Amino acid sequence: MCENPLRALPKMDVLLSHPILLAARERVPYALVRQAARDKLEEVRRAVLAGAAVPSVDALAGDIAAAAQTMSRPGLKRVINATGVVLHTNLGRAPLAPQAAEAVMAVAEGYSNLEYDLDNACRGSRHSHVESLLCSLTGAEAAMAVNNNAAAVFLMLSALAAGKGVAVSRGELVEIGGAFRVPEIMAASGAVLREVGTTNKTRLSDYERAVLSGEALALLKVHTSNYQIVGFTEDTPLSQLSGLAAAHGLPLLCDLGSCVLSPAFLPSLPAPSAAVALADGADVVCFSGDKLLGGPQAGIVLGKKRYIDAMKRHPLARVVRIDKLSLAALEATLLLLRDPESAREALPALSMLNARPEDLRARAGDLAAGLGEALGEDYTVSVLPCTGQVGGGSMPNEALPGFCAAVTAGPGVPQGLEAAFRRHEVPILCRIHHGALLLDVRTLSAEDEREILRAAESVRRSER
Ligand SMILES: *Cc1c(COP(=O)(O)O)cnc(C)c1O
Repeated sequence: MCENPLRALPKMDVLLSHPILLAARERVPYALVRQAARDKLEEVRRAVLAGAAVPSVDALAGDIAAAAQTMSRPGLKRVINATGVVLHTNLGRAPLAPQAAEAVMAVAEGYSNLEYDLDNACRGSRHSHVESLLCSLTGAEAAMAVNNNAAAVFLMLSALAAGKGVAVSRGELVEIGGAFRVPEIMAASGAVLREVGTTNKTRLSDYERAVLSGEALALLKVHTSNYQIVGFTEDTPLSQLSGLAAAHGLPLLCDLGSCVLSPAFLPSLPAPSAAVALADGADVVCFSGDKLLGGPQAGIVLGKKRYIDAMKRHPLARVVRIDKLSLAALEATLLLLRDPESAREALPALSMLNARPEDLRARAGDLAAGLGEALGEDYTVSVLPCTGQVGGGSMPNEALPGFCAAVTAGPGVPQGLEAAFRRHEVPILCRIHHGALLLDVRTLSAEDEREILRAAESVRRSER
């Protein structure tokens, strides 16, 4: 009567010799199949004790084989970004140019001259691979690259302003996202924050007072990438601050966040430019490699040689150094950036941001036609205007006019279809708007579009 229900569960060795799992062992290491079986048996044991029925051995074996297969594949994988947000931080920001991806492969699979000087047969510097390119592209005296821009800001403040008062406008004490807040990063670096001005207005005279009183021994300007103050506002540009800094021999530091090297890369948008910031008199500027620049994750620092040298010598430089894979991608990206006209085509992020609405309309038309055919007559697909975004906290008020393929009606539109696309082998991420599923072509490659059609065909098959 009170028979132990767990007795009905198969024994581990019996389960592992089930034909489904014997077959799975051909594709997946045995250790993973065993681990998956152990996990599954434990899960079922708990469910059975709580009153659930004992599943069939075939069902168990099928679940275990699928779990082992999942365990054998990396969880971090390619996804398709159909959201129209170009520098989507959750989706890895800027996609690399093929040349940059090839450069990564070339140094990843073997040894490289990362810190070896091939001409003089002696130890070299990892900075050398990008420094002269960065300088010639922007007019900077010196340059270095570190792990990311948060690290660049931290190193800049630690090396150039630790223990010193740094004047920052109250309107620039921003949070960039995650835990990156200007006052906190300053405190962590040992720099002493001297707030000047007010939230909406900061004048040159505010900085002057902090400098003349001796409270500020450096000036920091932070580009408020992700928000804008509008209305009754006043901001002191770098070109005005540089006179003050120079007159007192103080460094003028600038966290540009997301910028292009020069305005030629993104003529249609008011993007900050590193070359312009240097020409306006910034002594050191830093910014991200994987935002508007269109390269890998990196923090790029440009400026006067004596300041950059002090940053290179600082012990934290080793803590925040860039790895060889990112460095390879960064150098290849910079090589492409030597010619702005071809870079606007060659770098995926720049080409997406520079895309012309009429071209997007034509591509959305083709995608909509293909989708309509692949999904079948139960669905309605059309072309709709839509608005893309720069993303990555850059220029939040710039709407990028574009076009999307919109699935406006059909079984499971929008939520069911959204989930089916998201669970596709190559997950497809789209937006839902007014009950329609939108696929913005701005952020799609030709290969992405073919994969979307394959996903649509498998949705249709599963509905038969
Ligand atoms: C994005 C950003 C950062 C942080 O850069 P990461 O590359 O994400 O480390 C710092 N400051 C500003 C102004 C930014 O926009």
